[in-house]
Amino acid sequence: MHRTVDAKHNFIVDVHVTPGNVSDSTVYLDRFAYPLEAVALDAGYYTTEIAKALVERGVFGVIAWRRFGGKKGMIRKTRFTYLPDVDAYLCPAKQHLTYKTTDRHGYHQYASDPAICQNCPLLEKCTSSRSHRRVITRHIDESYRDVGRKRPST
Ligand code: SF4
Repeated sequence: MHRTVDAKHNFIVDVHVTPGNVSDSTVYLDRFAYPLEAVALDAGYYTTEIAKALVERGVFGVIAWRRFGGKKGMIRKTRFTYLPDVDAYLCPAKQHLTYKTTDRHGYHQYASDPAICQNCPLLEKCTSSRSHRRVITRHIDESYRDVGRKRPST
């Protein structure tokens, strides 16, 4: 069951029943048919599609999010900072990972310079690539997720 609650007045304003294997994020935008100023969503709704729709519809959205695993003991993507002005990622050792290409699924790929990485003290925790190159991916619409990520979620 997918419920929408008017938190100001404590009303359930929408209930939608689906089989248990239908995720929250799959049906959310179809249930989004009335005017809203703001929404608070749990991490099950943290998708690029929903983040983009909230921005485009002028709705103030706060969506909880999780740090996704990655390899144990390795430096996660969250330690890399996206720099929109130069369209690059800054790594924990202050190297810029620059744009290389976009794959067919819509992900930009940013790669480090192996000549710098091979002398970096963080290399073993950063990449297991034989070429000493760290690659970070960024979806073409990821900036919409950045908007919500900068807002408090608790
Ligand atoms: S290995 Fe390369 S990308 Fe990773 S932290 Fe060091 S310099 Fe940065």
